[in-house]
Amino acid sequence: MTPPEDVMFRRDLLRFGLVAPLVACSSSWAGSERTFQSPRTDRVDLPAEKWRVLLTAEEFHVLREAGTERAFTGDLHDHHGDGVYVCAGCGLPLFDSKTKFDSGTGWPSFFQPIAADAVGSLTDASLGVVRTESVCNRCGGHLGHVFDDGPKPTGLRYCMNSVSLDFVPRADVSKIGEPPTVRLGGWQGGAP
Ligand code: FE
Repeated sequence: MTPPEDVMFRRDLLRFGLVAPLVACSSSWAGSERTFQSPRTDRVDLPAEKWRVLLTAEEFHVLREAGTERAFTGDLHDHHGDGVYVCAGCGLPLFDSKTKFDSGTGWPSFFQPIAADAVGSLTDASLGVVRTESVCNRCGGHLGHVFDDGPKPTGLRYCMNSVSLDFVPRADVSKIGEPPTVRLGGWQGGAP
């Protein structure tokens, strides 16, 4: 009896060692090349080699390769300052501290982005389960994932990497600019 076509196809994939690359490509990211297209007019679209210069090695791994910092190791999961969290890649405001809550996960968690056009979403099937990846809507930097087990009023939990965020105290928020100034390398970085 001839096996169904899809079984034969899988056998061929196994035979030629193609399964792993196909799984990897099902992610929103392929190596350091992202597929995200920013819908913003102030989009920041830089090649990986430019980000490599602008970011620390850890920032590059998380923001540009969709890496994940180890839980409870970041500097912002237990951070309680009043202010705004901006993208560590481009400086775009992403979350207000008023929406931060203690999720107990070891990663900074928020129930809502600071603006409707601040945080983008991508489908992430990289671990064999479908999750919603959160990215900076201006530079496409990987932030973390969003889940539907958060607190009121949204019921959402934006589970972010500390590495992807810089904190701006409330007293300095006016320096961010409106529209927000591009700061490559994050809040400590300069203008483009
Ligand atoms: Fe960004």
